[in-house]
Amino acid sequence: MTNSRWHDNTTDEMHDTIGDKDRRFLIRVGNDYRTLEKLLTPDFEQKLPLQIDGVVVDGNHSTKFKDLRERLSGDSQVLIDHQVYRLQQASCRDHPSLVALPYAHKEREYRPEDFADDDFIKTFVQSVLNEQHKFRVTDYLAPSFFVSSPESPWLELNRRLLGETMNQVGAQVYATVCIPSNMQRNSIVIDWTINSGAAGVYLLVTPLSALTDPIPKLVQFLDLAKRLSDAGLTVIAGRQPAFGLAMMAMGVASFDAGIAQSERFNLANLVRPKRRTEAQVHPRHGAPRGIYLADLMTTVPAKVAKSILSVPSLKALLVCDELCCRGSFQSILVRPEEHFLWARAREVAAIRSDPKDWRPRRLAERVSRARQVADKIKVTLGTAAPSFEHLDRWPRVIEQISASFRVSGR
Ligand SMILES: [Zn+2]
Repeated sequence: MTNSRWHDNTTDEMHDTIGDKDRRFLIRVGNDYRTLEKLLTPDFEQKLPLQIDGVVVDGNHSTKFKDLRERLSGDSQVLIDHQVYRLQQASCRDHPSLVALPYAHKEREYRPEDFADDDFIKTFVQSVLNEQHKFRVTDYLAPSFFVSSPESPWLELNRRLLGETMNQVGAQVYATVCIPSNMQRNSIVIDWTINSGAAGVYLLVTPLSALTDPIPKLVQFLDLAKRLSDAGLTVIAGRQPAFGLAMMAMGVASFDAGIAQSERFNLANLVRPKRRTEAQVHPRHGAPRGIYLADLMTTVPAKVAKSILSVPSLKALLVCDELCCRGSFQSILVRPEEHFLWARAREVAAIRSDPKDWRPRRLAERVSRARQVADKIKVTLGTAAPSFEHLDRWPRVIEQISASFRVSGR
């Protein structure tokens, strides 16, 4: 059995930088928690547990994770995403796990008028925090609803919910900000968040796709995180798998990402009415949505990964020969979730191994290398190749945001 040379190195590397936990990679855990449980449990093959910065657990699945909680080390950040921003959509009734939340409305979606009474707000907040308390979270996430525009009545309600949260548990609270991407520059939202008194902010911007969005939109997202971070808030960019690495390298935010999921967040997909039950929609719990090819910095559908890896010259460039995939040429395809988590841990360790000032440039260089690999794939596969166009845009986003930080002295 391979004595995990790589594991030992990485563990040393991570311990060297243990103080560098202001920007974390948090694993978003939903139905796929067993993969993570396995990697946190050493066995004959895997000598050491996967070192992770922390987890964000979906509130509607948290009761399944009792065992997982026990395995998280003392310096892990542990958060529960309460999912309250999904409870104002009528379609929340289609999701049994949302309906089962103790703080969900018993008959329908929430409406602003439900919260007219202060006592109701108190009880609601108590119920949301109680679920987090039971899971022994390290930080509380204040309940918050999606705010579609500056005129939305939910904005004022969110303010009251955050105030009540801080009344109940003190100041070590993250505000939840769930807004459409066209509100990223809205000063009402930014000022409200900065002046809220919260210690941090869990930031959900929708829709946001690092793969397809234009440069200005991605720059705005980084800029928003930077503004909040400069104001002293600890920022977590929610559901931002690949682009989160850029945010970490720029030093503006922690980020969370589901296991081997694609690089986008769209609230509309989460609240879309379902005509089938959850079990029918997800026949295999934890079924991966893609294969993460680290040298491409991209998660691709399994079918695409297969066709790329079936070409020997491309496979030589892309195959993972780390412990996660050793022993089988096909491991990356067979155990994509495990591969993703180990690969991401290596990426985070690599960012931390560089001095902070070098990190954006190093990341841009990495994207450029990924771009070269993507070009080879295009030459070989022709029209069957994915566009990989995002690899052109990301270095420009990093460049633009770095320049704007220098100009503004931020
Ligand atoms: Zn691997």
